[in-house]
Amino acid sequence: MTLSKSNTLINKKIIDFFPEKVEKILFFNPPSIPGEYYNVDLASRGRYFCYPPYGLGVLVAHLKKNGYQSEICDLNFEVLMSLQNNNHGDFNVIDFLRPIIINNIKDFQPDVIGITSMFTMSHTFILEIAKTSKEVNSSIPILAGGVHPSNAPEMVLKESDRNIDFIMTKESELALIDLLGFVNSNKNDFSPFQISTLIDDQYVCGDVSPPPSENSLNIKPDFLRLPIGQYSSLGEVGAYFFMRGAESKASTSLSNRGCRARCTFCSVENFNGKGVRGRTIDSVIDEIEMQVNDYGINHIMWLDDDLFFDRERAINLFNEIVKRNLNITWDASNGVIASAITDELIHASADSGCIGMHVGVESGSPEILRSIRKPSGVKHYIRAGGILNKYPQIFTKGFLMVGFPSETLGQIKQTIDLAVEMDLDWYTISNLAPLPSTDIYDEMVRDGIIDDGITNTSKVNYGSSQTGKQQDIEDSQKSVKSEFSDHFEGDLEVVPDADMLDDIWFNMDYKINYEPLMSKKMADEKLIKMKKFLLDIGNRITRDNPTPFYFLGVVEEKLSNFDTAKDYYDRANEIKMNSEYWKSRFQVLGL
Ligand code: SF4
Repeated sequence: MTLSKSNTLINKKIIDFFPEKVEKILFFNPPSIPGEYYNVDLASRGRYFCYPPYGLGVLVAHLKKNGYQSEICDLNFEVLMSLQNNNHGDFNVIDFLRPIIINNIKDFQPDVIGITSMFTMSHTFILEIAKTSKEVNSSIPILAGGVHPSNAPEMVLKESDRNIDFIMTKESELALIDLLGFVNSNKNDFSPFQISTLIDDQYVCGDVSPPPSENSLNIKPDFLRLPIGQYSSLGEVGAYFFMRGAESKASTSLSNRGCRARCTFCSVENFNGKGVRGRTIDSVIDEIEMQVNDYGINHIMWLDDDLFFDRERAINLFNEIVKRNLNITWDASNGVIASAITDELIHASADSGCIGMHVGVESGSPEILRSIRKPSGVKHYIRAGGILNKYPQIFTKGFLMVGFPSETLGQIKQTIDLAVEMDLDWYTISNLAPLPSTDIYDEMVRDGIIDDGITNTSKVNYGSSQTGKQQDIEDSQKSVKSEFSDHFEGDLEVVPDADMLDDIWFNMDYKINYEPLMSKKMADEKLIKMKKFLLDIGNRITRDNPTPFYFLGVVEEKLSNFDTAKDYYDRANEIKMNSEYWKSRFQVLGL
């Protein structure tokens, strides 16, 4: 077999870096946000992600099957556990994690270290873990993989200061087995796939193999000794905590990989390849049953990006949950595709324990939807809203996005109008944050809207909900009466700038999430559901925000609980009177 020039170079580097046979692999799962954003108050309210490391569990299962020994050190879990159990004053996450990293390496004595990273927000930590690991033993090769390193392999390698030796891109469980087989057999005529590295400081990217076939997906993750049943007590697993209750134990499962669509802002195709590959229903159900029996799990969040890809399979999967008496609830926080929604599908979802479902809407403008290649159009969204509203036991949320290139205020207004017409229970609105390796990122770089290298850590858009940035804005403006304008009263042809988008976000949030609570007639079942959610926003998600309490008053009034309503109005008023920020906003909103 003739190797490409890149693979010849990569093979040589692998042989240099792996002088010994490999038997033991230690994996690190990094904290989910940068160290400087950790906040004891947010942690105590369970506001940070605390997902079981599903991908690492799958890697461990494959490695075990092939005779390797692995260990997982979940640093995200360690941080959240410590923040919740101890009264930290100044908590320095790096100082806290260093001895844990060092001890794990010394105790396990790995031949290779693997660092995974799902979120760009973990970027600084993967660099830190690699640095600390090399300080312990510089001869242990370090691999990084997962969604973030796959999206920006060159940047991760370069910013790691040569501490990360190789990146394994995309779905890499089989590529990792190949790499270790290559190392242990020294077969020079064969080349492992999906490896990127620096050679003489130049980025070299090896060949990529097709993603794992459907048969190889039928494997249960092996979480070793991780206390999976404890994860959701420390942080968020999915977006429907308020529906499943504080006592529930949530985990995740992945029934199929990939997505049929190719939205220009999404990195799923870059990581999973084209199309969708599904596991057998038995394999998925066996895995959930294992989590129920071994860890006491009673709620599953699907990690799927296209859960309804094959409607018949999805219905059979949900029916099997009922038939096998798993007695779980589940949610689709990752979102489903609106055009795939049918009555039969949502009926089977509700019957099998679905309590929450996100729908990827993004925009109400047909031009924007076409330009970003959404797989659904306005008519699909309206139809999906009609179907979902027949199932009040499911809390429904829509993902909306603003800030697309050239998007006008008029187009954003179309998004507001569509959201109100769909009448889902809630919408999460985010500003476009272009990810490297996506088409929209390339377009924006080409058109000079952003600089290439936006994921340089100083420029990363970390989002406001996890880091508490929105809270910081509110805190900094508590005593300052900032101007707030309703831009939709002006020229709708205007393309808003970043400053205007802050006010627009607030305005949209109010118009589509709060105002309908006042203006629309709602069944008691829906009002009770909204009460649970508003309580979660007021008590856990935000701090010192009068809006959820004001609208709890509205909801209680509609439920004829007038005394409780008055208590909530009083609480909202008390918070508002202590904040110039909220006074000015309530004034503009006429509250
Ligand atoms: S439908 Fe969702 S998962 Fe699929 S490409 Fe679009 S944004 Fe990504």
